[in-house]
Amino acid sequence: MTITRFAPSPTGHLHVGNLRTALMNFLIARKVTGQFILRLDDTDRERSKTAFSDSIREDLNWLGLHWDRLERQSDRLERYLKAADQLRAMGRLYEAFETPSELELKRKKQRNMGRPPVYDRAALSLTEAEKTALRSERGNGVWRFKLDHERVTWIDGILGEVSIDTASLSDPVLIRRDGQFLYTLASVVDDIEMKITDVVRGSDHVTNTAIQCQIIRALGGSVPRFAHHSLLTGPKGEPFAKRVGANALRVLRQTGIEPMALLSLLARLGTSDPVVVYQNLTELVDEFDISRFGASATKFDEQLLFPLSGKYLQTLAFEAVAAEIKQLGVPESLAEKFWLTTRGNISTKQDLATWWLIFRDGADPEIAEEDREFVNVALEILPERPFDENTWANWTRDVKEKTDRRGRGLFMPLRKALTGQSSGPDMGAVMPLLQVIKAKAL
Ligand code: GLU
Repeated sequence: MTITRFAPSPTGHLHVGNLRTALMNFLIARKVTGQFILRLDDTDRERSKTAFSDSIREDLNWLGLHWDRLERQSDRLERYLKAADQLRAMGRLYEAFETPSELELKRKKQRNMGRPPVYDRAALSLTEAEKTALRSERGNGVWRFKLDHERVTWIDGILGEVSIDTASLSDPVLIRRDGQFLYTLASVVDDIEMKITDVVRGSDHVTNTAIQCQIIRALGGSVPRFAHHSLLTGPKGEPFAKRVGANALRVLRQTGIEPMALLSLLARLGTSDPVVVYQNLTELVDEFDISRFGASATKFDEQLLFPLSGKYLQTLAFEAVAAEIKQLGVPESLAEKFWLTTRGNISTKQDLATWWLIFRDGADPEIAEEDREFVNVALEILPERPFDENTWANWTRDVKEKTDRRGRGLFMPLRKALTGQSSGPDMGAVMPLLQVIKAKAL
C-alpha cells in the first residue's frame, strides 16, 4: 500500500512552500487508495508550539487536505532511543565532544588549505579514558552517525538520477548534547516503522536523503521512493524566505481566496502545463502526475490567486453560496439574482459583501466635473423604482435622445454615478438590485 506523510515542524505557520510538499504527498496517496499521514516533527521542545500545530491542522483542513492519521514525534521518543542503541551497537554512532568554536576553527583551517570543511572524525580515535575525562570536563557529547564513504544513488521522482558522494559530508549529529533526537534520525525511524513508501520534500533535503538512505539501511529498513521538488522564489526570482510571512497560508486564507484556486495553482506550478481551475480535489487527484514537475526554481506570485479564485467562483451555482448570501442580509427575493449578477465580478466571497453594500446603501457617486450636467439631466428622467431588467435599456435610450452622448461617454458616467465603480456587472442586471441611488439626492 502507498503511504505518504507530510512532516512539518510546528515551529511556525505553514507557507506556500510547505503546501507544495503537503499537496504532492496528499495527491500521491489519494491517487491510489493509499494513506496520508500528518506527522508533527516536534522533537525540538523549545521551538515547537501547540499554537503552530493547531494552525497547521487548521490550514490543512481549510484546504481539504485531510489526513488519515496524525503522529507526533514527541510521543515516540523511546523508539528513537532504541534505534540509537541499535546504531551504537553496530559501531555506527559515536560520541564527539568538540565545542562549536573548536569545530569552526577546524573548518577554517580546512578551507584555508583548500579542503572541504568536513568533520575530521577526531572523536573516533578517543580512548574510553579520554572520553570519560572529556565528559567530566564538558558534560555529554553529541552523537554522530558514522557514514560509509560511498556514492549513494537513487532515481528521484522529479530530479531523475541523483548521486551523492558521502565522503564529502560530515558525519551528521543525530543526538544533541542535551539528549534531544534530531530530525535526521527521528524521521528515518518513523519512515521505517510507518512503512512510508513515498517521500516528497523540498530539494533542500537532497543531502539529507543520501544520509538517511544509509541510516535506513543500517536499521534494516527499506528505502522509500524519493522526490525532491524545487524551491519557490518570489515573482521576480527573489528568495522566498523574505516573503514567507506574506505567503503564510493563514494570511492567504484571510484575503478570502478560494482554497481550490490555491490548490489548482500549486498543482501546476513548476510544470509546463497550463493552470486549470479545478472544481474539487477529486479532479485534481485524477490529473496529478509528479513526473510533470521540473527541477528548476519555481516562481510564485500570490497575485495570480485572485483571478483564479474569481474563475472558480464564477462556476458555482447559487445553491453553493445561498447560505453565505443570506448571511449578508440579501432578501430572499433578490438572492439568486444578486449571485448571478455579481459572480462574474468578484475574486473572493468578501467582494460579495462589497457589492451588496453598494446595492443596499447606494454608492458614493463618482462624477467627473465635465459629466456633472449630463448626469443631472439623466437622473431627472430616471424612472421611479421598482426597477426591472429593462429599466437601464429604456432609461439610457431616453437619455441618448435627450443629450448628445453616445456609447462609453454615455454609459460610463451613469455607471459611476450609480455604483461608484468604473467596472462591474451588466447594468441591466444591476438596476433591479439597486435599493438606493445616492446620486439622486445630491
Ligand atoms: N520536518 C522536516 C521539515 O519540515 C520534514 C522533512 C521531511 O519531509 O522529511 O523540513
